[in-house]
Amino acid sequence: MPPRPHTAYAAPVRAKRPCMICFRNVILNYDPMTGELPVFRCYFATAATGKCTLCAARRKACLLPAEGMQGDSLDLEALLEWVTFYFDIARDADGNPDLDADGDEVYEHDTGFRAEICGAVLRLCTAFEATEKTHRSGLETTGAKKKRSRANYPAWVAARRALMQVYHPRPAGNAKKAIECRLVPGDDGYQLWALAKRMFRGEVSAAVTSALGPAQEAVDMATFPLRLDDF
Ligand SMILES: [Zn+2]
Ligand SMILES: [Zn+2]
Repeated sequence: MPPRPHTAYAAPVRAKRPCMICFRNVILNYDPMTGELPVFRCYFATAATGKCTLCAARRKACLLPAEGMQGDSLDLEALLEWVTFYFDIARDADGNPDLDADGDEVYEHDTGFRAEICGAVLRLCTAFEATEKTHRSGLETTGAKKKRSRANYPAWVAARRALMQVYHPRPAGNAKKAIECRLVPGDDGYQLWALAKRMFRGEVSAAVTSALGPAQEAVDMATFPLRLDDF
């Protein structure tokens, strides 16, 4: 059996990108010391409502990551994908999985190292959640002022999308990602998210250096998927 991901649910999966309610719920229940990556998903009891289980229970529509932060949301996904490298199972020279005494597959890296990476993941995700909330409340897309300013948000997003055409720092590789809206300097929450990405890189770098050595750190950091802004 491959290692089981840490999850609080048993229901089947449908959506890939989770709503913020489920994202928050996973973070709150996540223990990085297990050395397992968190699994961010919405779960759906029935197809009829279109709401995930948690949102159906609170009788509200799913709260997807704010439109103005879709690019930041993709950046988070890219970072989470990037660290899955440290959660591979161990294999012998022929590519067959190593098995423990019970015949189960084992991780390539020990729990202590994986827990350090998981701690960095938890802090990154916590910061993303706080940033998204800050962005949302800064633009008054929730709460008492929602009605008054709801019309302004699409206009803000359109302006931001135009800005993204000329804004310099973009993720390497995927050109399509460049037109997704991202926070820029001066936005509410920008500094928190910029700092969080920087800290994440630093924490992974430190963990890899101490566990796998500086040569491996240099190789791995060269594959870091984002260009980080100065701030
Ligand atoms: Zn959900
Ligand atoms: Zn939901």
